[in-house]
Amino acid sequence: MSSRVLIIGSGPTGATYARRLLDRTDDVSMLMVEAGPALTDPLGMNVRNITDPAARAEAKKASQGPASDQAGIAGIPTGTAVEGTVTARQGTHLVGRAADGSHGMPAAAAATCVGGQGAHWTCATPRPVGSERIDFLGDELDPLLDEAEQLLHTTHEAFSGAPQAIALLDVVDKEFAGDGLLVQPLPVAGDPQPDGSMRWSGTDVVLGDLAHRGARADRFELRTGTLAVRLVLENGAVVGAVLRDLSTGTESEERADAVVVAADALRTPALLWASGIRPDALGRYLTEHPLIFGVVAVREGLLPPVAPGAAPVDPVRVVVGVRFDEERHPFHAQMLYSPVCPVPLPPDSPFADNSAGYVGMGWGVRKWPRAEDRLLFEDDVPDANGLPGIRISYEVTQREQGQLEQARAFQARAAAALGTFIDGMPVVMPPGSSLHYMGTVRMGPDDDGTSVCDSFSQVWGVPGLVLAGNGLIPTANSCNPTLTSVALAVRGADALADRLTT
Ligand SMILES: Cc1cc2nc3c(=O)[nH]c(=O)nc-3n(C[C@H](O)[C@H](O)[C@H](O)COP(=O)(O)OP(=O)(O)OC[C@H]3O[C@@H](n4cnc5c(N)ncnc54)[C@H](O)[C@@H]3O)c2cc1C
Repeated sequence: MSSRVLIIGSGPTGATYARRLLDRTDDVSMLMVEAGPALTDPLGMNVRNITDPAARAEAKKASQGPASDQAGIAGIPTGTAVEGTVTARQGTHLVGRAADGSHGMPAAAAATCVGGQGAHWTCATPRPVGSERIDFLGDELDPLLDEAEQLLHTTHEAFSGAPQAIALLDVVDKEFAGDGLLVQPLPVAGDPQPDGSMRWSGTDVVLGDLAHRGARADRFELRTGTLAVRLVLENGAVVGAVLRDLSTGTESEERADAVVVAADALRTPALLWASGIRPDALGRYLTEHPLIFGVVAVREGLLPPVAPGAAPVDPVRVVVGVRFDEERHPFHAQMLYSPVCPVPLPPDSPFADNSAGYVGMGWGVRKWPRAEDRLLFEDDVPDANGLPGIRISYEVTQREQGQLEQARAFQARAAAALGTFIDGMPVVMPPGSSLHYMGTVRMGPDDDGTSVCDSFSQVWGVPGLVLAGNGLIPTANSCNPTLTSVALAVRGADALADRLTT
């Protein structure tokens, strides 16, 4: 008998479910709903591949939700916007307000468009290391990460051969060689092109042929501008969702044998809350990567200048990573070369027009999960769509402050090896800047009240409800999360395919 699946959210993790379920079954059909608009053809393409600057800016703006017209670039303060780094903000809109008594996460943001944040991301796909790994998945994790790398088109050959990349790697490697740290080009998701450029992966590559409108139309439909406002429960099981067409306001009920909620780490728990599904751990254990970021004006003669007439340097192709090491360097560090300063400089800055270029450097540290770092949902103060308003209670504790100070020391060494920090740098970025929110619907090995779903992403005690996204990651981790979340989605989709077909 044929089965029907409803997927809520069209980012990389929802796309993994769509592709995997269609590929692994013969008679499962699905509807994917996405609150935002389609930006590109193919669907969900990384907007960084749009060459026309005006069209690219338009695509970013279209992802910033209905309030973006009033708020400019989503009301995000300029100066935190450093395109091409983990602090890149355009294409997103702020989500959530600080809870009473907390500073919250002033920079917490999301994207609302086909492809989700995967249409805007910077494509860094390092693997989790040591305690960052989800221990109860054991040896299963590595093959899942392999599958995720294939889905995302991860390449370990990102360096374009740019002489600046090779020289940057050399300088940083020499600085940390004595510490025994692994300094390497960062693995990124993209396809190197014959002309030397890179086609950056978006959600389109995860969707595969589904990124082409009308593909496999007998079994797959993507409905844009469609908001899931509530999951439908019958006898304790989820059997569908109420969907709102945002252009007309019309609501209808969609029935399904399974519902996958892949609506990001902030809005997935809000949807469960709105549906009356409120396990103890829902919205709790919120983590991200506290981040110390700085830009260095490179010392003259250290890196080769960009030759006149040479192709422009794409900063994301010149990324050097210093890998996480449990004992010696429990951080993920990323350094990007750019010939122009990636942040605005005062006109009289001594670092303006530095002919040797700039290196942006971010050190991300772990945030340990605590039940009290959490989302709170306000039914009486709803968001613009009438869904529960999100409040955020979140603190960076002494433990993370200590880690930030250690990271600062490593960063200072890299900076001194390369040149001089520009005015006002480095800075600890405001909470939420990482865009990597985790833990809010965390998975766990047991239903002991500290997790929302099992290791196959199935919500404890609610048949028919499967979750996806960074919110499932239960560990304190400092590496970019998408590779891990796609790996978890592969595992969950395969388990769901088995359940639907047996
Ligand atoms: C600028 C930028 C740079 C980044 N760089 C990196 C990086 O280098 N490496 C990395 O690992 N990660 C990076 N990220 C984060 C990465 O993009 C996310 O981890 C990833 O996209 C998460 O995928 P997802 O499918 O879980 O959710 P998303 O991609 O967030 O997609 C969720 C989708 O659900 C939709 N939705 C929400 N609620 C509803 C609802 N009720 N009904 C219908 N639809 C709904 C949203 O509109 C959205 O499109 C970056 C993000 C940004 C914005």
